[in-house]
Amino acid sequence: MYKKTLTDIDVNNKKVLVRVDFNVPLDEHQNITDDTRIKAALPTINFLLKHNAAVILMSHLGRPKGEIKSTFSLEPVAKRLEEIIGKKVLFAHDCIGDEAKQAARDLKPGEILLLENTRFYPEEKKNDPDFAEELAALGDIFVNDAFGTAHRAHASNVGVAKYIPSALGFLIEKEIEFLNKALVNPQKPYTAILGGAKISDKINLIDQLLDKADSILIGGAMMYTFLKALGYSVGKSLVEDDKIPAALEIMERAKEKNVNFYLPEDTIVAKEMEEGTEFHSVPVNAIPDNMIGLDIGILTVRKYAEIIKLSKTVIWNGPMGMFEISSFSHGTKGIARAVAACPGITIIGGGDSAAAIEKLGFADKVSHISTGGGASLEYLSGKELPGIAIIPDK
Ligand code: ADP
Ligand code: MG
Repeated sequence: MYKKTLTDIDVNNKKVLVRVDFNVPLDEHQNITDDTRIKAALPTINFLLKHNAAVILMSHLGRPKGEIKSTFSLEPVAKRLEEIIGKKVLFAHDCIGDEAKQAARDLKPGEILLLENTRFYPEEKKNDPDFAEELAALGDIFVNDAFGTAHRAHASNVGVAKYIPSALGFLIEKEIEFLNKALVNPQKPYTAILGGAKISDKINLIDQLLDKADSILIGGAMMYTFLKALGYSVGKSLVEDDKIPAALEIMERAKEKNVNFYLPEDTIVAKEMEEGTEFHSVPVNAIPDNMIGLDIGILTVRKYAEIIKLSKTVIWNGPMGMFEISSFSHGTKGIARAVAACPGITIIGGGDSAAAIEKLGFADKVSHISTGGGASLEYLSGKELPGIAIIPDK
């Protein structure tokens, strides 16, 4: 890592302000339904405690739209962190102002303080310099470890870095290390599996892959836009008609660049996107007019699995079908199994893809699951992430 990280700075006896990604999913009673993101911050927090720092954590949670909304309070996260880390976690009911200042001032080395949701202030997303300065005043050093928001320039992850010495935490360092295995001289053959909802979300990623990958395997709803562009009728499947020219151009460029560009041979179709509906497998040239394509078929899974098996680097972004409904999860499951069995480097990027691989039980069989959906997508598309760019070089 060419940027300063935790091991490049002296944190002994310092108040270290850490931007973490505690944007956890909550149910309607504010119970945390998945604490993966809290656990992902532990290496940085534990390192700081061990090295005699006072740890001040800040994060956003959900979309309170710049207003104080108790349903987006980080207080339940403080409690959960306390259980996980086995240590008292103090909580300030505001991220700036007197209470936060006092709590930060009183905090001793080896202690942890969590500040309230930074997005209770509209200044957060505007990267307001005065707001950022108030946050920065709470600490001696800033550490950015929130990979999930690294693609956004907000006050708590970019603005603060202008006021106090800054470094990256271990989570961001690990994310970049893995994503770079796909981005910088990937071991070949390099296969990219792309699915999910829309081509429009992933055009930049596809552009980048056309220069790097040996094979691109398409699934998910985006397959129907490619198929329609080639003249197939796709029934009632999700299609982005305005992206048909882009789809054609992508396939043309794949040919020019000698990238093997694969579309499914067969697809699962149904009349409704619902659990328990009747479904069939059909060749992609025989999708009935009244049906929706909702998954890739078994022949496609087999063919893709052969390619995945022989790959040295695999990245996967976007589920192969509407995996949330079990009838349409077999394609995603089959591909997950193939990726899990691949001895090469296997990287999962994308929020829903990560959820799918976890739900299907293959999480511990891949090299890396990115904790940041949008951030990993942008990084893999070759963009600089502002939350990383702002940190000084070593
Ligand atoms: P990621 O978050 O991994 O980048 P996306 O957000 O692009 O993935 O897409 C995930 C969504 O795409 C899932 O909710 C899934 O149900 C949906 N999806 C996949 N295939 C289809 C399909 N054939 N028709 C409709 N939706 C689909
Ligand atoms: Mg998504």
